[in-house]
Amino acid sequence: MAKPIIAIVGRPNVGKSTIFNRIIGDRLAIVEDKPGVTRDRLYGKGVWLEQEFNIIDTGGIEIDGEDEILRSVRVQAELAIEEADVIIFMVDAKAGVTATDEEISEILYKSGKPVVLAVNKVDNIQRQDDIYEFYTLGFGDPVGISGAHGLGIGDLLDEASKHFPEDTGDEYGEDVIKVALIGRPNVGKSSLVNAMLGSERVIVSDVAGTTRDAIDTPFEKDGQKYVLIDTAGMRKRGKVYESTEKYSVMRAMKAIERADVVLVIINGEEGIIEQDKHIAGYAHEAGKASIIVVNKWDVVEKDDKTMQQFTTKIRDHFLFMSYAPVVFVSAKTGQRLQKLYPVVNKVAENHSMRVVTHVLNDLINEAVALNSPPTDKGRRLKLNYATQVAVKPPTFMIFVNDPELMHFSYERYLENKIREAFDFEGTPLRLFTRRKS
Ligand code: GDP
Ligand code: GDP
Repeated sequence: MAKPIIAIVGRPNVGKSTIFNRIIGDRLAIVEDKPGVTRDRLYGKGVWLEQEFNIIDTGGIEIDGEDEILRSVRVQAELAIEEADVIIFMVDAKAGVTATDEEISEILYKSGKPVVLAVNKVDNIQRQDDIYEFYTLGFGDPVGISGAHGLGIGDLLDEASKHFPEDTGDEYGEDVIKVALIGRPNVGKSSLVNAMLGSERVIVSDVAGTTRDAIDTPFEKDGQKYVLIDTAGMRKRGKVYESTEKYSVMRAMKAIERADVVLVIINGEEGIIEQDKHIAGYAHEAGKASIIVVNKWDVVEKDDKTMQQFTTKIRDHFLFMSYAPVVFVSAKTGQRLQKLYPVVNKVAENHSMRVVTHVLNDLINEAVALNSPPTDKGRRLKLNYATQVAVKPPTFMIFVNDPELMHFSYERYLENKIREAFDFEGTPLRLFTRRKS
């Protein structure tokens, strides 16, 4: 199921990023693409009462050319309205109600989206009185919080989670492969959607998702059912919003959450830039199957080595996604587009593949015999038993004497062994360790 999305909205300095950091704790989205880690200040994951959610600090979205605070805040609020399931509207108890707060209220109120009003900087009991004036904003009971002292955050998440969408189960059948196309502006996403659909029989076109705002296109090809997930909602507003990296990422995130297979589109004409990696990183972290699709291959001047050279470049840039197949296409000429479908089918299959427990344990035992587990202060990691606990992505639980003894490098080694033995091309794998002697 797609995780609910909370967006934090409010004028600068009310404490949005402070609260954002409190809520995500150490679960900040991390994309490991090279030594050193890229941390995104905008988007993180949280858990409240075992319910996972995504949270966005819209204050982290800088709008190009929008330097005036009010306009910037307005755009951020609109983005939140488009993308979020629940909006946390944050105000500042010390400052009281300001004109900008009222402006934002107006926008949020009209949207009809669920809004939880959080009054921050309520640092002591005496200040509780200060929250009453915020009733005038018209969002019901304000929740008093203090980012500085970590007070009231639980109450805030209690309120927010009341508005999470019901788990409606899978919107489509198990036999339908849900595909999302992501990539920065102008890489050719819409051209690809059109070219891919081209001659295919579209079962029902442009059916608005019932629970989400995305536009889905279900179709069938060679007996396989697919749904193309497109977050076209914003497109009609033009490219202004898309010109900001962070916004592209936010939009991609929502499509990614709902997809099985993510096509990470790269502009072959321009090559790879940092933003491509960020976007791909979300697909990886969300545990989706991925294919790297190099588009506009028609305009690339090439000889017999060009494809290999480009692939090498991709591998260097996308170290965290070495499992993803690379396909070169042209939406314009239709070149190799047909070859994309078998790859989509394959990675979708791998994404939901199960490994039989005894085969897995034989493999782990063999791996352990070949390369001894790490030790710490004279104690050695002992692997007792492994089992696959989930698919989409394939997730393995390894029972060990002490999880603290597991090293990242040994985990990587085990993952490689699993990949050598089974065809998990296109899908990330998850390995967890748990104590059991
Ligand atoms: P943003 O611009 O809305 O993201 O706000 P920040 O999170 O950057 O916070 C703005 C300022 O308010 C910083 O100096 C914070 O330390 C301060 N601040 C945040 N939360 C609290 C709080 O609960 N109490 C007090 N007194 N200050 C806070
Ligand atoms: P999006 O913003 O990612 O949806 O990109 P669009 O589909 O709007 O395409 C951006 C521009 O690239 C348009 O001018 C397209 O005509 C062009 N384009 C898209 N795919 C190709 C391709 O395969 N080859 C060439 N030469 N141009 C392409």
